[in-house]
Amino acid sequence: MKKQDVISKYNLPINVEFCKKCTISNQRPRISFDENGVCSACNYAEYKREHIDWEEREKELIDLCNRHRKSNGEYDVIVPCSGGKDGGFTAHQLKYKYGMNPLCVTWAPLKVTEIGHRNRDAFIDAGFGHILGTPNGKVTRKITSLSLKHIGDPFQPFIYGQTNFPLHMAVKYKVPLVMYGENGEVEYGGDMKNAFRPDRDVEDHNGHYFSGLSPEFWLEHGLSETDLKPFMAPKYEEIISNKTEIHFFGHYKFWDPQENFYYCIKNTGFTANPERTEGTYSKYAGLDDRYDGFHFYLGFIKFGIGRATSDSAHEIRDGKITREEGVALVKRYDGEFPQKYFHDFLEYCSISKKEFDEIIDSWHSDHIWRQVDGTWQLKQSVWESDPQSVI
Ligand SMILES: [Zn+2]
Repeated sequence: MKKQDVISKYNLPINVEFCKKCTISNQRPRISFDENGVCSACNYAEYKREHIDWEEREKELIDLCNRHRKSNGEYDVIVPCSGGKDGGFTAHQLKYKYGMNPLCVTWAPLKVTEIGHRNRDAFIDAGFGHILGTPNGKVTRKITSLSLKHIGDPFQPFIYGQTNFPLHMAVKYKVPLVMYGENGEVEYGGDMKNAFRPDRDVEDHNGHYFSGLSPEFWLEHGLSETDLKPFMAPKYEEIISNKTEIHFFGHYKFWDPQENFYYCIKNTGFTANPERTEGTYSKYAGLDDRYDGFHFYLGFIKFGIGRATSDSAHEIRDGKITREEGVALVKRYDGEFPQKYFHDFLEYCSISKKEFDEIIDSWHSDHIWRQVDGTWQLKQSVWESDPQSVI
């Protein structure tokens, strides 16, 4: 299989550098590092703690709710929510603290886990109207398999739906306000252009979420317009005439995923997994899809950034663990192969183990990996680098 050019595809720096405060490297697409070697997410975490007036932000939220609240029984805010801790926190606060009437919407996981299903049911039972968008299973499988081969990310069809389905529901139910949890670009490292505004442009979707490839790209790969329609955004004119606004709750309320977890245990019937998620140490994040381990594993192959790196980086920023602890967790868990559903996943994608291995090999970039005795090893790791922590 042809070697992929990861550097130019994602516009990555050739020299790998690790943030001096957390565990993330400069290989995360769109992240930036300052002159002191600190990443944009760490700088934002400090800014958010020290410079944002959260009482003022809450007033902005109340104003926003006042502008959108309806008194005729109709839904007045769309909350994308799988029943997990982040959407659960956002929906519960909007409904019970700010008097809104949210319609919660979930784009179905590729293959839901038992615990994901249970948490979603518990969330609905906690008092929420909910719509589940389930696309054609055959088409989803096909896009998953094609995405794995062409862009090294099996999660692309899910990402399309997760981004576009809430917009469809906003247009259909004539609800202009869509409220996401956090802005991942700002909280976890990425394009900082939206760091100081509460909302985002629909125009950013292709670049930020779809790796530059819109659903229409797959027309060239044997899928029809009918197949792809559910994955596409509503017509731009429909989004505009609905006066759709996409906001982030994390702009208005201090965002802390671990606190959201405790909040949802108490308020939405959320339960953590009894076992840790493969590739990381946590038990409470991203529990609902059997195959999301492959999305994270491919991230590890392409960028040298696995699930434990992402989890530890934000827990360091949130003051839950130290950098030293984070580095140890990355060393122990990052890049662990998602073995549990591997066989099912191959069957789901209709590929052999040999084809899978060839795809994985094609995404190993020479600036991150070297081969030693036939096995791939990271050239640079966060545990071997000595960033002289500035914490
Ligand atoms: Zn950092």
